[in-house]
Amino acid sequence: MNHEYITEHAIVERYVMGLLLPEECAAFEAHFRNCSNCLHNVEAIRDYRIGVEEPLKPGPRSIPWRWILGGAVAALLFAAGPLVWSVRNLRGAERRINGLSAEIARLNEDSRRAAAETGQLRGELSRNAAPSSGSVPIFSLLLTRGGEDSTVNRVRAVNSGWLVLSLEYVPDPAVKSYRARIEDAQGKTVATVDPLAPATSDALGVALRADVLKPGNYRAVLEGVTRNGRSTVVARYAFSVA
Ligand SMILES: [Zn+2]
Repeated sequence: MNHEYITEHAIVERYVMGLLLPEECAAFEAHFRNCSNCLHNVEAIRDYRIGVEEPLKPGPRSIPWRWILGGAVAALLFAAGPLVWSVRNLRGAERRINGLSAEIARLNEDSRRAAAETGQLRGELSRNAAPSSGSVPIFSLLLTRGGEDSTVNRVRAVNSGWLVLSLEYVPDPAVKSYRARIEDAQGKTVATVDPLAPATSDALGVALRADVLKPGNYRAVLEGVTRNGRSTVVARYAFSVA
């Protein structure tokens, strides 16, 4: 047994710990009997072992070193166990958080899209749908002879939503359907409502978006379409919006 072998195989340390095979043990003892260097190393390690061992183990020194080592390894494994477990747990939590973040992002995108669609639908509804009664102001317009006197019918300016003009009329059996045109003071048509459904037997309801009627003078022209497809002016209603 030479020093290279002794160093490579940690013979001194293993000898002190009692971990050498019997033939290794015999060979090393034969060597260090004539080697002050190895003997010194053996004693140094023994001294160190005793120094470490004694404060921990008050009992006799006969407790084998390997038990202590084994205990230390076991303690280390025991301590490392929860660490490994918690690292694995953290990884799992991290994966779950990443999954949740993706899910939240997806839900946000969904709700953003839903909100956009809702806004779009609301816009379409306010453009196309018939106004619901109750909250919609209704203004009755009386027939005006010649349709010129706008002081008879006054309509309050409405800021938003819808309003209904209720046109007084006398049903004509020859007329199949009615439509209404709203002209401004310059005679320009600002709205056409077609066809009209009778609100009562003597009035036709004309639903208009409020922003169609800015303050000013207007004329509603009621036209009837006869059964042979001919269109005729049935009545005119001058009114002012203020
Ligand atoms: Zn030696």
